[in-house]
Amino acid sequence: MAVGHFLVTRTTMPRSHKTLPRLYLEAPLAAGALLELGRDHTNYLLSVLRMKAADALVVFNGQDGAWLAKIADDHRKGTTLELVVQTQHQTPKSDLWFGFAPLKTGRLDYLVQKATEMGAGVIQPVITRYTQVSRLKADKLHANIIEAAEQCEVLSVPNLAEEITLADLIAHWQQDHGLRRLVFADESAPSHAPNTQLLDLEGLPIGILVGPEGGFSDDERALLLAQPFVIPISLGPRILRADTAAVAALAVVQSTIGDWR
Ligand code: SAH
Repeated sequence: MAVGHFLVTRTTMPRSHKTLPRLYLEAPLAAGALLELGRDHTNYLLSVLRMKAADALVVFNGQDGAWLAKIADDHRKGTTLELVVQTQHQTPKSDLWFGFAPLKTGRLDYLVQKATEMGAGVIQPVITRYTQVSRLKADKLHANIIEAAEQCEVLSVPNLAEEITLADLIAHWQQDHGLRRLVFADESAPSHAPNTQLLDLEGLPIGILVGPEGGFSDDERALLLAQPFVIPISLGPRILRADTAAVAALAVVQSTIGDWR
């Protein structure tokens, strides 16, 4: 009896919104809407999370804020959710641009997840001389970004841009990005004081660029350093792996001139 009673209370009295499962859906969200889920989402809620009718979760679509939803019908072939009430207004998309040279699968998944968690607004794969991966599985990267957004409660999902070569990126930077400065993680940068350098960029739109496992070639580095919009920063005296450097660069930017303040 006690167990049964506990189950009833759990399903009818949702836990705090913060601890509810979060689901990203590509559908317009509005009060009272009924959303029919496809196979993957149904399977995730019913089989993986073992949810059932009347259980609550939070859904978001990157545009309409976050919504408390409940399972209206837990049919195994296609669950239906009912939207109850908006719990958070939509937050604006982050303006932070993050460029990286694609890494091998496991680290690549890690990198896009971390970039999402760290608040990148655009995630841009950049192909360089020593990039080990040339064909990216955009679907898989997008799925990773969504999973990270679900987990870290980002409401505006970063855009995954189509890959571009470093040469094209640099050639079109000023035309495409206007005043945006490109903070370049450069293990050979002379200064070891990135915070001071970054504080000078206060108020300007920012991009961050991190190289591949093998680093940038000498030519590429020279090309980057010749640009007036490029700011080389050091991330300390140790050579970091590309995925570590990405998180470190995002952290130092967010903490000095970004949204950590
Ligand atoms: N030159 C190296 C290391 C590449 S590390 C090699 O030959 O293997 C991968 C990327 O991480 C670099 O391209 C750079 O963008 C970034 N990075 C690593 N350590 C760094 C540091 N101490 N400061 C700034 N960027 C760093």
